[in-house]
Amino acid sequence: MTPNFGTLYIVATPIGNLGDLSQRAIKTLQQVDLIAVEDTRHSGKLLHHFNIQTPMIPLHEYNERERSDKLLEQLKQGKNIALISDAGTPLISDPGFHLVCAVRKNDIKVTPIPGACAAIAALSVSGLPSDQFVFEGFLSSKRITRLKCLEALKNEMRTMIFYEAPHRIVNMLEDMVSAFGEDRQIVVVRELTKLYETVYDDKLSAVLACLKAHPKQQAGEFVVLVSGAEKMSMDDAEVERILKILLEECSTNQAAKLSAKITGGKKNVLYDIALRLKNIG
Ligand code: SAM
Repeated sequence: MTPNFGTLYIVATPIGNLGDLSQRAIKTLQQVDLIAVEDTRHSGKLLHHFNIQTPMIPLHEYNERERSDKLLEQLKQGKNIALISDAGTPLISDPGFHLVCAVRKNDIKVTPIPGACAAIAALSVSGLPSDQFVFEGFLSSKRITRLKCLEALKNEMRTMIFYEAPHRIVNMLEDMVSAFGEDRQIVVVRELTKLYETVYDDKLSAVLACLKAHPKQQAGEFVVLVSGAEKMSMDDAEVERILKILLEECSTNQAAKLSAKITGGKKNVLYDIALRLKNIG
């Protein structure tokens, strides 16, 4: 690191409750020369609330590359800069990736001021396994692409975490039923740290029915967590060996059915593996 260069601080801001902005975040935002923000009006309110008068500069998904060059120059001149997003941790489904890459490539210090992140806060209260998880962010707004992505995840064994906008929450859960089945356990966390914070914890079909029956509950911000697929009782190599033998003698459907009986695995999971094995030939 070159000593005369400034530092880029990646500062997490609250996802609802302003009390979640840390003392260290406030101090950093007061002391830096410039704060890069997604939206000056939105962040202006937060900064005003904490009496932070540091100048802001917009950095959003449409100007990030070009703006990163400008910020890089300022850091090289020894200025300290903080990056915040509208809510939570920058770069997590938010801008900042190009800036951080450019800054690190130039051997300039990047340091985090950690705090709220909706995905992690939701996971921490979900009751789903948290030792291993995958963060999928927002699914595509296009149904076909969304379904393909969900299909590809149906055998994922780790807890899956998604973000979703309120106007798509019902469609998303409907597509999840198609991909994961009605009985998959899910947790839908709504309006974390806010007045109407709610956690729905049930089978997919039950949570979907509940949200459909109460349209008001479809408003707000959502994190959707899906329980991972069940682990098969035998190791993958052994399951594949059994399936290959069965596929020589019977149809994909029968092979899946019989292997489910032999291994204790789920028929739909085994059916997919059988299909893959058949395609490999
Ligand atoms: N960077 C943010 C973070 O660290 O969580 C996420 C930004 S992303 C553009 C916004 C999405 O995060 C929302 O659509 C919602 O899925 C989720 N989110 C943000 N705040 C939330 C809250 N208070 N409760 C539930 N979900 C929230």
